Amino acid sequence: MASQEIETLTSALSRLPGLGPRSARRAVLWLIKRRETSLVQLLDALAAVRGTLVECGTCGNVDTSDPCGICADPRRDSRALCVVEDVADLWALDRARLFAGRYHVLGGRLSALEGIRPEDLSIGPLIERVRAGGIDEVVLAMNATLEGQTTAHYIAERLEGLPVRITQLAHGLPVGGELDYLDEGTLAQALRARRPVG
Ligand SMILES: [Zn+2]
Repeated sequence: MASQEIETLTSALSRLPGLGPRSARRAVLWLIKRRETSLVQLLDALAAVRGTLVECGTCGNVDTSDPCGICADPRRDSRALCVVEDVADLWALDRARLFAGRYHVLGGRLSALEGIRPEDLSIGPLIERVRAGGIDEVVLAMNATLEGQTTAHYIAERLEGLPVRITQLAHGLPVGGELDYLDEGTLAQALRARRPVG
């Protein structure tokens, strides 16, 4: 029978994506055994994140400044905009260092099943960004899932009539593939072979 404190910590950790109660309990035991080293490091890292991270008001990235490092970087090509579902996708693409433009994070994907509608995502601000001008190409980098593709089609329709080229990641992404889980070679291939929508 574990103490109340350990139960509370275990239950908090078990809510993290990818961790269930069993792995959370193992993580807690692991941390307790290393409380002078790993636990202290984890606490410091969590405190730093809590104190400094903000959401970029332009693209939705999470960074230590607003606008984020990518939006503020003058070496980035402001004429190319890559639209992704989540911040994790932005980070995956950016780790691959293939896209030199800027990003727009939707904050999810359309889902009839989960009741996620266009107004629940950052689609309105995306249209505004494109409408403001200065953007030549919008790359729709949705996941290769049914909902990701539905979202891409919806956005392509909304952008119709605006003076911008709309492309999307090449097929060859594994069906059901989430960008975040792809290796950089596959991502690079999909980005390089991107094709016009429609
Ligand atoms: Zn940004």
